[in-house]
Amino acid sequence: MTISPAHKKAKAIAPDSRRPAKELCSECGLCDTYYIHYVKEACAFINQQFDNLETQTHGRSRDLDNWDECYFGVHEEMITARKTEPIPGAQWTGIVSSIAIAMLNQGWVEGVVCVQNTPEDRFQPRPVIARTPEEILAARVNKPTLSPNLSVLEQIEQSGLKRLLVIGVGCQIQALRAVEDKLGLEKLYVLGTPCVDNVTRAGLQKFLDTTSRSPDTVVYYEFMQDFRVHFKHEDGSTETVPFFGLNTKELKDVFAPSCMSCFDYVNGLADLVVGYMGAPFGWQWITVRNQTGREMLELVQNQLETQPMISQGNRQAAVQQSIPAYDQGVTLPMWAAKLMGVVIEKIGPKGLEYARFSIDSHFTRNYLFVKRHYAQKLAAHVPEFAKKIVSQYRLPKT
Ligand code: FAD
Ligand code: SF4
Repeated sequence: MTISPAHKKAKAIAPDSRRPAKELCSECGLCDTYYIHYVKEACAFINQQFDNLETQTHGRSRDLDNWDECYFGVHEEMITARKTEPIPGAQWTGIVSSIAIAMLNQGWVEGVVCVQNTPEDRFQPRPVIARTPEEILAARVNKPTLSPNLSVLEQIEQSGLKRLLVIGVGCQIQALRAVEDKLGLEKLYVLGTPCVDNVTRAGLQKFLDTTSRSPDTVVYYEFMQDFRVHFKHEDGSTETVPFFGLNTKELKDVFAPSCMSCFDYVNGLADLVVGYMGAPFGWQWITVRNQTGREMLELVQNQLETQPMISQGNRQAAVQQSIPAYDQGVTLPMWAAKLMGVVIEKIGPKGLEYARFSIDSHFTRNYLFVKRHYAQKLAAHVPEFAKKIVSQYRLPKT
């Protein structure tokens, strides 16, 4: 007689009910399944457990005496790469979609958890288990909104899939790793992207309405290494808006509270992470965390051109100056914002130093957010690597 695991008796939470993490919920999707049974241990916002999960995944936790590991997590290697033939309509050059397609085509996995959009709304996420290359391609490009990727977990068990690739951002992957051994899989591969400053669908609309000249025609945007937000519109035109000109007062509350209290920007529990911010403009930044990640990357090596990582400039003064701007919602006049963007782009941090700039700016902001709004959670919720990063800066007295 097989004994049914306890979680199968649990019931997914009703769609409109308050989630166990309350306002800190990132809508990762776990609670939309019977795996809600494990939410107290698994939720990234209820139980911060990087040390355990890094050890479970990579065989060790990150070395806090090594600054590169503090910033970028456990890794064997980082490289700069781009596809020699980019996938049209991908967020960058489509390395993520290409790895997923290669893994499916070569029979490494039977399905890929990824996120398409709904037919009515290009930014409304629709998580799926893709079984064909076409379904993976239909998930290309960011849905820059909170996305319940783990809501398909019950379907995995029901469909009998044994070898699976999951594509996701940090909060989704933390919860996934925590229930990994309950999924009945023979092999789980995790392909991550970095993630920061995500929003609800309503928050996204506010951001677009406040920032873009034509919110309804935006098909893609990214906060780029040249200190500007780049919007791509339906007609193929690009619009750029300097970071320092963003209406920070209007936008102060637009980011989801989960993202204001997240310290897993670099997706520390994925096997392989594909982002952009540690690479020069137009290139992607790949972090190989373990042997599984290395094998996944090797599968598409012949589709990539690569170059060594660069790291130039010094971020620290710029981060220190950005702390009050973030904190008090200072908005510069547009001419000053453009000028500041040009100056910083010329002399400012590049490559990995830019990635550190972005991590420092977000971690200091988020540390202050948690301290002000969830003081009782501060000590346990902020991981040691983040405390070390934040301790390099003078923070306002709260
Ligand atoms: P593509 O081939 O276009 O594939 C994109 C994949 O992302 C798809 O498989 C899709 O399933 C998945 N996806 C889309 N939206 C979501 C979502 N909301 N949640 C989970 N998975 C999703 N990189 C940085 O270096 N710095 C950042 O600050 C940064 N912020 C990001 C914020 C968000 C919300 C997201 C989703 C990604 C972010 N990234 C960031 C990653 C980066 O923008 C690209 O997604 C990454 O470099 C892959 O590009 P690609 O062309 O290879 O992806
Ligand atoms: Fe549940 Fe995920 Fe929300 Fe946590 S973040 S409460 S695990 S849906």
